[in-house]
Amino acid sequence: MKPRLRPVTAALFAFPFAITAAHAQQNDTQKVDPLHTIVEDISADRIETDIEKLVSFGTRHTLSETKSDTRGIGAARRWIKQEFEAISQRCGGCLEVMFVGDTISGEKRIPDATEVVNVVAIQRGTTDPDRYVLMSGDIDSRVSDVMDATSDAPGANDNASGVAGTLEAARVLSQHKFNGSIVYAALSGEEQGLFGGKILAKKASEEGWRLKAVLNNDMIGNIEGVNGVVNNTSARLFAEGTRVTETDDEARTRRFTGGEVDSPSRNLARYIDDLADRFIPNLDTMVIYRLDRYGRGGHHRPFNDLGYPGIRIMETNENYERQHQDLRTENGIEYGDTLEGVNFDYAAKLTALNAVSLASMSWAPAPPAHVEIKGAVKPSTTLSWKASAPEQNPHLAGYKIYWRYTDAPQWQYSKFVGDVTEATLENVVIDNYFFGVASVSKDGYESPVVFPGAAGSFGE
Ligand SMILES: [Zn+2]
Repeated sequence: MKPRLRPVTAALFAFPFAITAAHAQQNDTQKVDPLHTIVEDISADRIETDIEKLVSFGTRHTLSETKSDTRGIGAARRWIKQEFEAISQRCGGCLEVMFVGDTISGEKRIPDATEVVNVVAIQRGTTDPDRYVLMSGDIDSRVSDVMDATSDAPGANDNASGVAGTLEAARVLSQHKFNGSIVYAALSGEEQGLFGGKILAKKASEEGWRLKAVLNNDMIGNIEGVNGVVNNTSARLFAEGTRVTETDDEARTRRFTGGEVDSPSRNLARYIDDLADRFIPNLDTMVIYRLDRYGRGGHHRPFNDLGYPGIRIMETNENYERQHQDLRTENGIEYGDTLEGVNFDYAAKLTALNAVSLASMSWAPAPPAHVEIKGAVKPSTTLSWKASAPEQNPHLAGYKIYWRYTDAPQWQYSKFVGDVTEATLENVVIDNYFFGVASVSKDGYESPVVFPGAAGSFGE
């Protein structure tokens, strides 16, 4: 969306790792929103270093060798785990770092028993530790033949960029404390059939995580489109419509109330689109009303399959000559996913967008639950919701009602209604708008907007 506020800074600088305390010393009347600090602390240099390291493993194919310390996916995942552990050491052990894997076999792209292993780090929230937001990238890479596990497959953009961004977000956000928990995940088995995501989504479900957002980063570094467009000021947020878990009863209700364009994934994407306008200089996001690119897949899908809100964040301009290609030169065209195809400043910009989104949601109270709406044949509209648990959200200031025209892409109007569980908008006719509710913290951090009913629910 077009920015509603002009960004103050003109460029994204690569800061050295030491995170400046200068912002904290400013007096209250001139307080800088820490989200701006987070954006400035994201380093393109560190992202470049991490992508180079991941490329140095030669191939990270899911079926590649695991014993070597210098080549293959085993070495790559052990290095990622060490990095998370080093980050954790610098924040007094604030990350729980673990492998989350399973043995897969008998699949078309994984015929023989293979360990598919994700690397996961959890930064535990202070007041609402069982509420989660998750950022992910993929460890594994491939060449033209998806079963070729030995040829060099640098996967610099697809998807070392996503893993490097996830590591960098962990570095910067681990310098802060949040109310909710943040999960940083380097997933595996993506190219072979989204196996790593399925494994982690299953764990989330079995352990009853209150998972409110999955930000799946898959290719966040290419700015030179195969169509000739070169642009570093745009990114895409792919968000599905109606949940695949919707029941027949819920579908019947939705026919009369709407909600097709207000799934939690869509409202998560609108939330991030708004943060891009407010906090990321020179970046405009397109919310795309689709699960993913046409006929293609990504690791947010296994989470969506279980009903969790989740989107894919990625570059706008793709270059297919650099994706899933054997390294070669043919008719003067260089094929392959090499370092030359990654713009590190752009990857840093998209990483910063992830970081502010994770931070904002984790500082905000939980999204309102049990949101309901009524107002048929009345000149007013009434929304109600369940009061948020005070022990989990001690910083709650209250709730904000949002509404927009039914064909408007972004929320247009809002009204803060205080710490109540019901509010009526007088002389706003229910038929003419879509409505939703967000929770707001005392510092002004808001949850995504929750559309009423099952169609829009972010869960308990
Ligand atoms: Zn790929």
